[in-house]
Amino acid sequence: MSARLDFRSRHLGPVGSDREEMIRETGYPSLDALINAAVPAGIRMDGALTLPPARSEQEALAWLKSIMSKNRVMRSFIGQGYYGTHTPGVIQRNILENPGWYTAYTPYQAEIAQGRLEALLNFQTMITDLTGLDVSNASLLDEGTAAAEAMSLALAGKPKGKAIFVSDRCHPQTIDVVVTRAEPLGIKVVIGDWQTFEPAACDGLFAVIVQYPDTRGRIDDFAQFFATAKSAGAVTIVAADLLALTVLKAPGEFGADICVGSSQRFGVPMGFGGPHAGFMACVDALKRKMPGRLIGVSVDSRGKPGYRLSLQTREQHIRRDKATSNICTAQVLLAVMASMYAVYHGPEGLQHIANTIHARTASLKTTLTAGGVAVEVGPFFDTLAAKVTGKADDVLSAAAASGINLRRIDGDYVGISLDETTTDDDLAVIAAAFGVKVVSQDNSGAAWHGGHARTTPFLQQKVFNSYHSETDMLRYLKRLESKDLALNESMIALGSCTMKLNATSEMMPLSWPEVASLHPFVPADQSQGYREMLALLEGWLAEVTGFAGVSLQPNAGSQGEYAGLLAIRRYHLARGDSHRNICLIPVSAHGTNPASAVMVGMKVIGVKCDADGNIDVADLAARTEEHRENLAALMVTYPSTHGVFEETIRDICNIIHEAGGQVYMDGANMNAQVGLTSPGLIGADVCHLNLHKTFCIPHGGGGPGVGPIGVARQLLPYLPGHAELPEKEGAVCSAPWGSASINTISWMYVAMMGPDGLTEATQVAILNANYIAKRLAPFFPILYTGNEGRVAHECIIDVRPLSDASGITVEDVAKRLMDYGFHAPTMSWPVGGTLMIEPTESESKSELDRFCDAMISIHGEISAVISGELDANDNPLKHAPHPCETVCGNEWPHSYSREQAAFPLPYLRNHKFWPSVGRIDNVHGDRNLVCTCDSVEAYAAAGA
Ligand SMILES: *Cc1c(COP(=O)(O)O)cnc(C)c1O
Repeated sequence: MSARLDFRSRHLGPVGSDREEMIRETGYPSLDALINAAVPAGIRMDGALTLPPARSEQEALAWLKSIMSKNRVMRSFIGQGYYGTHTPGVIQRNILENPGWYTAYTPYQAEIAQGRLEALLNFQTMITDLTGLDVSNASLLDEGTAAAEAMSLALAGKPKGKAIFVSDRCHPQTIDVVVTRAEPLGIKVVIGDWQTFEPAACDGLFAVIVQYPDTRGRIDDFAQFFATAKSAGAVTIVAADLLALTVLKAPGEFGADICVGSSQRFGVPMGFGGPHAGFMACVDALKRKMPGRLIGVSVDSRGKPGYRLSLQTREQHIRRDKATSNICTAQVLLAVMASMYAVYHGPEGLQHIANTIHARTASLKTTLTAGGVAVEVGPFFDTLAAKVTGKADDVLSAAAASGINLRRIDGDYVGISLDETTTDDDLAVIAAAFGVKVVSQDNSGAAWHGGHARTTPFLQQKVFNSYHSETDMLRYLKRLESKDLALNESMIALGSCTMKLNATSEMMPLSWPEVASLHPFVPADQSQGYREMLALLEGWLAEVTGFAGVSLQPNAGSQGEYAGLLAIRRYHLARGDSHRNICLIPVSAHGTNPASAVMVGMKVIGVKCDADGNIDVADLAARTEEHRENLAALMVTYPSTHGVFEETIRDICNIIHEAGGQVYMDGANMNAQVGLTSPGLIGADVCHLNLHKTFCIPHGGGGPGVGPIGVARQLLPYLPGHAELPEKEGAVCSAPWGSASINTISWMYVAMMGPDGLTEATQVAILNANYIAKRLAPFFPILYTGNEGRVAHECIIDVRPLSDASGITVEDVAKRLMDYGFHAPTMSWPVGGTLMIEPTESESKSELDRFCDAMISIHGEISAVISGELDANDNPLKHAPHPCETVCGNEWPHSYSREQAAFPLPYLRNHKFWPSVGRIDNVHGDRNLVCTCDSVEAYAAAGA
């Protein structure tokens, strides 16, 4: 081993003699020789990336600080869906800043994810209670996309419905996102005043969307409107404010079918637009079509309750182009934070916060009115629209001069939205900006008396009424955290998910006020630091992808796919090729691909793959010929979904271009390309990147993510726009730069790695995958390799032959890995009965060896089943995982020993991670769908 002197060598696992040994093991004289064998010469980049040289951790932090200091951090009472909030310290330090939470993966392996599954079930319970609806999912990407998802949900199964009504008092960005989403689907969006809109007179109406309280602050009673809309056959959708719902009548009680919104103001910093957890709740009748992830309760092998992802867990993987949504990565970490805010405050605490805000708003109204400033009439919660005829800019400047931002609704109206952070001093400043004197100061938080009052109790469940002291909260968070296996425990070698190091220095800036505290719609002169940082990152990513431009707006990979395909669609439309609507997609593609294509109105045609997992070029050419006239795009994953660099990729791109199509590259596998080759070089026209994979944003247990797209020159005019950007049209999510704040993580990564470090990371990722392939090949066949017998940055091991001989399934292997302290690799994707292993560059030789030792030991156990040494049914694989309670219990009915169950390898005696439940019964959970936590207790009590 040699000393590690710079960030790069801290980011990388194997260095020095370890690396040398691994290279030898793969049978190549040098790393370059291995890379030359794995990555075809025909697609290699010549020369290095043009990026700033690597900075040390301290230098990069200082550089970023100097840039972000150009932001002016003011108090923002702009509202419009984003509010000041106090993140409780105990939540900030123990969740947001804690790798035990933020480095976890999406909880597909339920037995080692019970902590975050419980937190997400709390989230669903909170949303269900506050909205008064039957079922809630565990987060969407933001409020605007949630409204768009609600539109799709309402449309599903209604082929004739082609018009949606959207109240003109919805947040403007929500309207914009819905309009973008509606256009390719041929949906007419009618924007207007709900009070005069006549549902029965609107042809093809399938849904209505209103805001509660609305964007100008008014609280309306929609009961009659919803009844009329429903009798006209429309689904009723409300975008609601979660905090207001603690005191207002729940949407479910006035006829809403679907309620969407953002949980940002439950303790999640504004972060210049995100990330925050959007939410969606709906009536029971719609639940099986609901997008996103739904946490449910089932039972484990011992009959004890256990949580799991239910139903449409990976909906697009199963339904592909029939899916109603392409959402995959959601906003788990932020949903966990918001749910914990509710756990910490409890129902009374939340109501007190809401009532205090309302009391202050009422005081402000009294003050303004007394001073002769008219305020829009109607019941309100926290937002006022003040009439200042022609003087909006003057009022805004006066407020800004005292460090406060208000909202410019138009030249005549100023909006003021108070929040949890508002103080009496703030009120004095606001009053002064209007040239009036404070006459009323009520911050009593007295019970709600504003009308439309909530009458039904909420959050009565034990969990929301138990952890209100910091000590209790701290221990609750710790308890949940210790049930979950994250990267701070062991490697998580999930193929296609790139679970690499999320370095502390990359994470630290998130807690800076210059990063956390900006409202997304502050005037541009206050966000100069952000704009500079984002522009730098866009430039760096353009260099890495070989493209002309990048948009950071998409807030997940799936959104990037959608935005990229939208760019292709617009390009064809602008050229008068409105008939081009065919999207070719290889059958091996990630399920989000076909789902995204359908969202932009394209028709999906499958392309075959050959026995090696490569695209069948003859079939591609035939399909292209067949659809030449109408070809819009090819969506291709490179290196292939099977983890191999296809040599024919350039030919493939040529075939598509020659027929007038554009090539969309799914950039999830960018970790095998950075610095060696690039989508632009290969001939693609657009790709998305997952910054939460290749560029170090942690997975957060299932989000947040950033899914930027890079595009070639001809597609530049069609990048997503936003009302806050020079190009206004085509917003794909609520904020101009999506989940702006977490881009600092990727910025830090690139700044600290530099061009050589990034390239070396790619090389080491490929080395690590090939090392694992080499070590495991004698035990498990490696499914696909390139011409030279090499894999790229991941490898697929085939468990099927062993399964056939032993009856041990790949799922048994995945569950058994938990007993060895590991998270399973990607299971049965892209090929059933296999495991796809992606170790990433961050894992050291010793960790790779520990994982291989575990796999080889499992191979030994399977062999013992085959030889009859272990019983075919009563063996440690079939009964895995083994929780501590079972292993230590007085009863041990098995024919293998407790020791073999829990300590099959020596390293486990030094440190053992215990799965907290036995194997969870999936079928039972889907048949008996339970998605809130009060029922869990009832469920447990019923002795299930
Ligand atoms: C992860 C992934 C996606 C989707 O990205 P999300 O951020 O989860 O929406 C798309 N394609 C591939 C190949 C992926 O691995």
